[in-house]
Amino acid sequence: MSEQDSFDLVIIGAGPGGYVAALRAAQLGLRTACIDKGPALGGTCLNIGCIPSKALLNSSELYTRASNEFKAHGIGIGELSLDLATMMKRKDRVVTTLTRGIAGLLKKAGVESVTGAARLAGEGRVEVESESGSRTLTAKNILIASGSVPIELPSLPFDGKRILDSTAALALDYVPAKLLVVGAGAIGLELGSVWARLGTEVTVVELTAGITPGMDVAMAKLLQKSLKKQGLQFHFETSVESATTDESGVTGTLKAKDGTTSELTADVMLVAVGRRAFAEGLGLDKAGIATDDRGRIVVDEQFRTNMPGVLAIGDVIAGPMLAHKAEEEGTACVELLAGKAGHVGYETIPAIVYTHPEFAAVGLSSEQAAAKGIEVKEGIFPFAANGRAKTMGETEGAVKILADATTDRIVGVHIVGAGASDLIAEATVAMEMGASAEDVARSVHAHPTLAESVKEAAMAVDGRALHM
Ligand code: FAD
Repeated sequence: MSEQDSFDLVIIGAGPGGYVAALRAAQLGLRTACIDKGPALGGTCLNIGCIPSKALLNSSELYTRASNEFKAHGIGIGELSLDLATMMKRKDRVVTTLTRGIAGLLKKAGVESVTGAARLAGEGRVEVESESGSRTLTAKNILIASGSVPIELPSLPFDGKRILDSTAALALDYVPAKLLVVGAGAIGLELGSVWARLGTEVTVVELTAGITPGMDVAMAKLLQKSLKKQGLQFHFETSVESATTDESGVTGTLKAKDGTTSELTADVMLVAVGRRAFAEGLGLDKAGIATDDRGRIVVDEQFRTNMPGVLAIGDVIAGPMLAHKAEEEGTACVELLAGKAGHVGYETIPAIVYTHPEFAAVGLSSEQAAAKGIEVKEGIFPFAANGRAKTMGETEGAVKILADATTDRIVGVHIVGAGASDLIAEATVAMEMGASAEDVARSVHAHPTLAESVKEAAMAVDGRALHM
């Protein structure tokens, strides 16, 4: 084994978990290699997830604004047209710029980027297969960050043409007349929104009683109302049992809670019912690495598997499947490895649905607080009462803050509204610092800003919001 092939840390997967861990490891002086089998670095997030979806959400939102809102501002643009091919090319360009950026960052940090499919090949050894042959790396520690893939329902198998996963739905080369979305979680609603804005008739079928299962129910209802106004149709407490496809489209058989069945025909169906941990080809069984009943690698609080010297982070372990969770785990895992005090604030991981309005949340929902027996005081402030929101024409939604009824400590913040994805950062920092609602209420917020709604919601916890 040459010195070239010996590392302190070999990371499998260059998604947000893996590449961030690699950068931090290099900062900490570890000789690091990062392996990925994909054609570009950045994993799901950069190539087929967060970034392309947000690029299309942004483009489609501009299109909607130009269609519906410019006139009210006194802006005339003549006849509007849509060039989908250019929109898709722009999305691809954004992705390529960022994935190349990661390659540059790894290189600059001195991380060796290895292309190929990795597999555990005995204690401290990783074998990488690529078109140019196989290579064995040795490592003091191996970090698995192999991510996740969409869940495929046996009754609705992906065919890439009529029954799509999120990757295919991000790359359609035509605007379908009708889209049937299975699952009203973040991915279903975001991609449903993209196509609805471009003119598709979108119907969302969801097994539970409302959108964004697991998030605050009252706030989810606010978003649901907005999405309905935008033309998205919903069937709740309904499952898509099966589907048939032909040259012209796909017909799903829906089954409602009361057992009645109906059929819904569309050009395409997007199945967005969640993602599952991905560890195929790694040789976990042979290596004796424990997984749970959902195929996720089991780790302790320091991200160590049951096999000494093998760690895991990100979507392939338990927890919310989010890029920033993977990044934080990557950083903390490597810091712990280097003898530092790495830490992930699991109670303050924000979750965001990038629809319009956006839905962002951190901490406990009303339902979760109740289930934990935490008595809370609630402060709600609607964007309709916020001056900046009025100037922007963004008056939908509200900020809701939940604070412990005894201590006033903030336990959850939920925002439906324009800019919620950025506004939630204030709430996250406040919660991370153990702030009370009073702390936020007494912090000066610039005027006029959407953030004043966060301050007013904090004041509303104490029944003293001023502008409503
Ligand atoms: P991944 O990003 O999945 O990366 C894993 C990498 O490991 C891949 O590149 C893969 O090629 C590689 N790999 C796997 N096995 C091997 C092997 N044997 N050898 C070599 N390489 C291997 N999250 C957010 O936080 N915000 C969002 O807005 C958001 N939007 C999303 C939108 C969509 C449509 C999708 C699908 C996901 C979205 N996500 C979002 C989720 C986010 O993409 C994931 O949580 C995140 O990418 C997980 O990071 P990871 O590093 O754990 O794994």
